Amino acid sequence: MRTHLLFGSGGLILMGAACVRLLNAGEPPAGEDYQRLMQRNLTAPIRSLNARDIQDTFRQGRASGKLHEATDILAPRGTPILAIDDGVIQKLFLSKPGGLTIYEFDRQGTYCYYYAHLDHYAEGLKEGMPVNRGDVIGYVGTTGNAPPQTPHLHFAIFRLGPEKQWWQGAPIDPYPLLIKLVK
Ligand SMILES: [Zn+2]
Repeated sequence: MRTHLLFGSGGLILMGAACVRLLNAGEPPAGEDYQRLMQRNLTAPIRSLNARDIQDTFRQGRASGKLHEATDILAPRGTPILAIDDGVIQKLFLSKPGGLTIYEFDRQGTYCYYYAHLDHYAEGLKEGMPVNRGDVIGYVGTTGNAPPQTPHLHFAIFRLGPEKQWWQGAPIDPYPLLIKLVK
């Protein structure tokens, strides 16, 4: 396994078999986010979620030079994508890497859930629309930079800053949460 050492504004990130992450001063430890999110009775974003289809790749480097900071869930094209928590559809956005994407804020505006590479949105989905956990919000595809042969849901969670900007926040690895939602 390769080991990378990265020095950036976020502190020292050591990637590899043993992973240690030092957070910025003032940032709550990741554990608090997990405790809060675990209490929410989240729904798996794909029905009949299978452990082998969830890729533990949060810290993987990408061609862009950035870290993945998300989890990819393999699923056949057209598989319904479910809202993982009660919230609001904050932004529907078409981006070059993400393709058709959804940014869902939770009801408190604490976290943003990001769903990318959608084939299409659920009919009638609109910005500002409240959703309940388990609602179908879109369908798995390969839009953006997803390999056409590998339809998957790129799923990310980030803690929003005080300005509640849909495009930025502190990334949280969804893998430990998703693996608990496996049936
Ligand atoms: Zn991805």
